[in-house]
Amino acid sequence: MTTTYDHVIVGGGMTADAAAKAIHESTPDATILIVSADVDAPYTRPALSKKLWTDPDYTPADNDLSTESESGAELRLDTRVSSIDRAAKTVTIEGGDTVGYGTLLIATGGQPSTLDLPDDDRVVYFRTADDYRRLRALSGGGRHVAVIGGSYIGTEIAAALVQNDTRVTLVFPDDVLGASVFPSVIADRFEKAFEEARVELARGRRVESGAADDAGVHLRLDDGSTLDADAVVVGLGIAVDDSLAADAGLTVDDGIVVDDRLRTSDPSVFAAGDVASYPDAILGRRRVEHVDNAKSQGPVVGRNMTGADEVYDHTPYYYSKVFDISYEAVGTLDASLEKVVDDKDDDKAVVYYLGEDGSVAGVLLWNVEEARDAARTTLAAGVVPRDELVGRI
Ligand SMILES: Cc1cc2nc3c(=O)[nH]c(=O)nc-3n(C[C@H](O)[C@H](O)[C@H](O)COP(=O)(O)OP(=O)(O)OC[C@H]3O[C@@H](n4cnc5c(N)ncnc54)[C@H](O)[C@@H]3O)c2cc1C
Repeated sequence: MTTTYDHVIVGGGMTADAAAKAIHESTPDATILIVSADVDAPYTRPALSKKLWTDPDYTPADNDLSTESESGAELRLDTRVSSIDRAAKTVTIEGGDTVGYGTLLIATGGQPSTLDLPDDDRVVYFRTADDYRRLRALSGGGRHVAVIGGSYIGTEIAAALVQNDTRVTLVFPDDVLGASVFPSVIADRFEKAFEEARVELARGRRVESGAADDAGVHLRLDDGSTLDADAVVVGLGIAVDDSLAADAGLTVDDGIVVDDRLRTSDPSVFAAGDVASYPDAILGRRRVEHVDNAKSQGPVVGRNMTGADEVYDHTPYYYSKVFDISYEAVGTLDASLEKVVDDKDDDKAVVYYLGEDGSVAGVLLWNVEEARDAARTTLAAGVVPRDELVGRI
């Protein structure tokens, strides 16, 4: 027999959590089912590479989002949805169980990108709370961990580990850490923070393959050198998890295509968070893999699933924190774009990234707080004369 819920959510991340809470707030009697492949109930994902390592008073229990108690949703963990039948309005759960829905939210995020490395417990593709627990067990006590990837996950993990009694080697393809996103003056400062913390930097290198034995994990790099470590963490971004939607005949184009109400090409099916390609009010159609987007789209999509007709008009920001550096960004950060750097006192800076037509495509707020709205206003302004950018924020 098929059980039917008013709302079914596929995925148990922060988008799912925020959507379920919004549904419950709008319609307390609605029945909600969350089906999640994760073994843990929804939690704050960014803390896995920051606060859980740097704040001794913050525990994994503090990181739980209390989804079930605050939304009344039924949570099925460690459970995967394998297909969607839009005509019957049902989803099939791996193993064969079928569940009916009134509305469906697909919030399946993405899977970490992988490398040609052995399938071994000491190789961690870092994404989940389970990965955090595994890395905790593999690090500390002076052990040596190789971190692969110089973007925000790799740099945050490297900073977290080195502050927790772990020897760290960070392998990344740029000549200077952060050089693919920051202007050189900022990348130099970013890299210096890692050098001062004694993170060993394997610059300009990529990992080609690896092997594991009793002594540890052995990586082969593209310059022919080898790197031996007790464990390896890979932080190379994600591959979007939109196959369920594609297989169900929904429109997919680097993510599940939704309108400004976060509705797919099927009016009963919604998508949000990392998996959704949505029309951003300022920046145009895009997919955003950032927590502000998950936390902001979740409530809007939840209310729209209960019958509201709300436009998602928030342009999300991104943040990262390593050592005593905090940076935020709105829009596109790409060091190959033309840049205007407004370098201020006290290691603060604002960097404007210019698109081909001269309009501002992205704003980096380096150790600058409370300026996201000003950054959004600048992005919305389009072409701003260069001399008016310096001092604008
Ligand atoms: C370590 C780390 C640190 C981060 N730090 C920052 C940061 O500092 N700043 C920032 O802006 N962003 C950060 N992010 C990104 C941010 O956490 C994500 O953008 C956000 O959590 C995405 O939420 P989501 O719910 O859309 O997707 P996800 O969190 O990916 O959740 C997807 C869920 O779907 C489940 N799932 C997938 N397929 C199925 C299926 N077929 N059936 C059932 N369940 C399925 C998964 O198990 C998972 O529970 C970080 C990410 C990571 C990994």
